[in-house]
Amino acid sequence: MRYSRMFIPTVKEAPADAEITSHRLMIRAGLIRKVASGTYTYLPLGWRSLLKIIAIVREEMNKAGAQEILVPSMQPLELWDKTGRSTDYGPTMFRLEDRHGKGSVLGPTAEEIFTTLAAGEIKSYKQLPVNLYQISPKFRDEFRPRFGPIRSREFIMKDAYSFDADAQGLDKSYRAMYDAYCRIFKRCGLEYVIVQAEVGEMGGSGSHQFTVPCESGEDTIVYTEDGSYAANLERAAVDPLPKGNGRCLAGTPVVPVEIPPMQEVHTPNVGSIEAVCAFLKTQPKDMIKTLIYAAGDGAVAALVRGDHEINNEKLSQAIGTKHVELADQPTIEKVTGAKVGFAGPMGIGDNVSKMVIDHAVAAMAVSITGANKTDYHTKNVVPGRDFPLQGQNIAVADIRYAVKGDTYNGKKLLFKKGIEVGQVFKLGTKYSEKLGAKFLDENGTEKPCLMGCYGIGINRILASAIELSNDDNGIIWPITIAPVEVIITCANQEDDRVADAAENVYQQLLAAGIDVLLDDRPIHGGAKFKDADLIGIPIRITVGKKSLAEGKVEIKLRAESQSRRVPAESAANKVVELVNSLKQKLQV
Ligand code: ATP
Ligand code: MG
Repeated sequence: MRYSRMFIPTVKEAPADAEITSHRLMIRAGLIRKVASGTYTYLPLGWRSLLKIIAIVREEMNKAGAQEILVPSMQPLELWDKTGRSTDYGPTMFRLEDRHGKGSVLGPTAEEIFTTLAAGEIKSYKQLPVNLYQISPKFRDEFRPRFGPIRSREFIMKDAYSFDADAQGLDKSYRAMYDAYCRIFKRCGLEYVIVQAEVGEMGGSGSHQFTVPCESGEDTIVYTEDGSYAANLERAAVDPLPKGNGRCLAGTPVVPVEIPPMQEVHTPNVGSIEAVCAFLKTQPKDMIKTLIYAAGDGAVAALVRGDHEINNEKLSQAIGTKHVELADQPTIEKVTGAKVGFAGPMGIGDNVSKMVIDHAVAAMAVSITGANKTDYHTKNVVPGRDFPLQGQNIAVADIRYAVKGDTYNGKKLLFKKGIEVGQVFKLGTKYSEKLGAKFLDENGTEKPCLMGCYGIGINRILASAIELSNDDNGIIWPITIAPVEVIITCANQEDDRVADAAENVYQQLLAAGIDVLLDDRPIHGGAKFKDADLIGIPIRITVGKKSLAEGKVEIKLRAESQSRRVPAESAANKVVELVNSLKQKLQV
């Protein structure tokens, strides 16, 4: 490839909506251009990198025994109605209607299609196990598309679906995908951590998420220093706190103090935790938030400390429902008998189908909470004395997000930001039962297939790699997914001797099968160096008048500051060696 013929529109400035480094650099280096909110065109260099990632993913998937197919992105809405996910996916799913009024969706994922395919084709245990995958565009109407290709509305996903006859089979298929993912991310040059994850609307019994730790990530990884536990924030469990508003250390005996009886205080128009704290000169951690949720056909009261946040996933598990959402204003007023902002646990037990109390609330020695009376709060509330911690419809459970200072299994929890690049799920029979993917076992008994599903965000791999590896001058690619491996910068294009020497090295590298770009543009050498650094090509050969006078050219790695001079005639060989050694480091 000759730079002079390539479409590489590098720019000095990134637009203001490019908030993070990778997004800015992808635009500046001419990899992508925005089309509309959350949709991007991949220009030649960006697309070359994506294709390299796709090739790695494809190779490892095939090696792991999965088979590639392609299913339509436009999927019948009725399949999504059958699994109930047309509701569960909510507004994230793009819908359309054809001229006959028939509904379709633009696939945000493809469990329904793959399971329906299996339902039609798989009859016997002899056809199992089978693992099918595709690499194709997916569509999600993200609430807030941002960070360029990291959270976009159209992106390329590799999604695989395994079908097994029994639980051991599923374990094996899951493990094969888990291992393939480790190889894929290593080969793409990504540092990653694997965390336990929530199954969310996907459903199923277990899941792991592959996350690239970095500051700009939207996910939070929660882990213990010894590596014995790692989960994402949605999933991370916490130990119950020691008794006493979390103020005493574990193991310290709590000195029993006589708490005076409850006392109502007038708190006119102060409903929020912050406002109440300011008004009563107290702290959020000494308050109880009582939140009323709608779950199934009843209302549920959920109690967390004022400084904690309810985790809806944990709450729904504690209640045993799939979905919870905050109740509407009339329901809250009916349950509490007060305006929104003054709910408390005292005396509302009969008005809710369940009361779920976070461990940390149960551990409070004393607290302030809403009085179930408009404009009033109650002081000196002692959990267990003033409202029950046990009972038929009462449960104490872990229903909040972990925070700094929490422990799990007695070990301190640490927090790190990260980007989710892939996730694997054990789905079990959720989809196969609903869509009739059944087979006859050895005894002729009909059983639903056990399924797993496995997703990788191709574009996120690209963006994460840039996010992890860059400097003030631009991108620093891992060689395996760089748009080109080597650039030859001809520093004095106008000088025929220099241009010929550069051409010579170029031809040798092409012959050696190296992915090489010759910068033959008739522009100043300095501008070429700037572009090479911005684009981030791992190896640069500079052919310039001065060094060539001594028969030498310069070789420099993008990741290093030092360059070295080698005789022009041995440059190609030297660079082939370098390419191989950089690749070697990312081999599995
Ligand atoms: P997130 O929690 O970040 O929204 P998700 O858990 O909903 O992602 P999955 O359904 O697990 O995503 O999809 C598989 C993979 O597809 C993800 O691991 C991620 O790499 C990628 N992906 C998901 N949503 C997007 C998006 N909006 N833009 C780009 N890639 C995405
Ligand atoms: Mg996910």
